[in-house]
Amino acid sequence: MDLVLAAAIFAFGLAFGSFLNVCIYRLPLGKSVVHPRSACPHCQRQIAWYDNIPVFSWVALRGRCRHCHAKISPRYLVVELLTAGLFLACYGQFGLTLAALKFCVFGFLLLGLIFTDAETQLLPDWMTLPGLGLGLLFSLVVPVNDLVSELLPGLFSAPGAGASWRGISLLDSFVGAAVGASFIYGAGAIYFRARGIEGMGFGDVKLMAMVGAFLGIRLTIFTIFAGSIAGSLFGLWTVAAVWLKRMQRRMQRRHETAREARQRAWGSAVIALRRFPMPFGVFLGAMAMVATFFGNQLLRWYWRLP
Ligand SMILES: [Zn+2]
Repeated sequence: MDLVLAAAIFAFGLAFGSFLNVCIYRLPLGKSVVHPRSACPHCQRQIAWYDNIPVFSWVALRGRCRHCHAKISPRYLVVELLTAGLFLACYGQFGLTLAALKFCVFGFLLLGLIFTDAETQLLPDWMTLPGLGLGLLFSLVVPVNDLVSELLPGLFSAPGAGASWRGISLLDSFVGAAVGASFIYGAGAIYFRARGIEGMGFGDVKLMAMVGAFLGIRLTIFTIFAGSIAGSLFGLWTVAAVWLKRMQRRMQRRHETAREARQRAWGSAVIALRRFPMPFGVFLGAMAMVATFFGNQLLRWYWRLP
């Protein structure tokens, strides 16, 4: 790893992270991401270039607007650092290759979707649909190497098969997208029947189509399983936290016995879970990121393959 190059890639990542913050804030509002210049959402004053330097400005201003001192979300800092870290990790894992570029693009879109879903419960088509298209296109230059290419090894390794690997890779990418989308569509339908509320929307279906196009079938299924486990743990943690908090409050304020408080608090914890919008996109997106860097190792370890 060349240190100068690594530093340049990190700085490049910070700049892209800064742009991603603009997308996260403006895309769900239907605003343009290029025009006008950034302004403080509180006092509407334009942000000077020296107050718009990634990471540095946020730290120098201690997370507040220079003029009205309104708080600036730490998300700006976090997204910039994560994007830079992502670009560096892609360079570390894949070197200066098309694969590194592919996973920079993929991770960039995932970070945008994760933070947009966390803040607004939306997964904008503006990110997922171009993402799906890019995933399919990248399969033509970076082989997806999944089930289709394994089921057709003769075609893949045949001499002079230079043109056909692209076709097979594209097919792998396409099947990945179809599997990802239909899995979430099916899970959403079951969830709707079971809980009577919409848990997973079409945003999640499109997100998983995009993930499938980039990662292929195997890692897409890994993403769905890991995302479901992470989501369930988060759900359990939410119920436990609400339950304990309500129980304490009931015992202090209403002087209920521990038993009464426990039962009533449990009731409100269940209602809280039912009303709380589960940000599935956050868990799916985060696990797709894990799948990108560690998925193959984890699968190999799980199946005890050499
Ligand atoms: Zn301001």
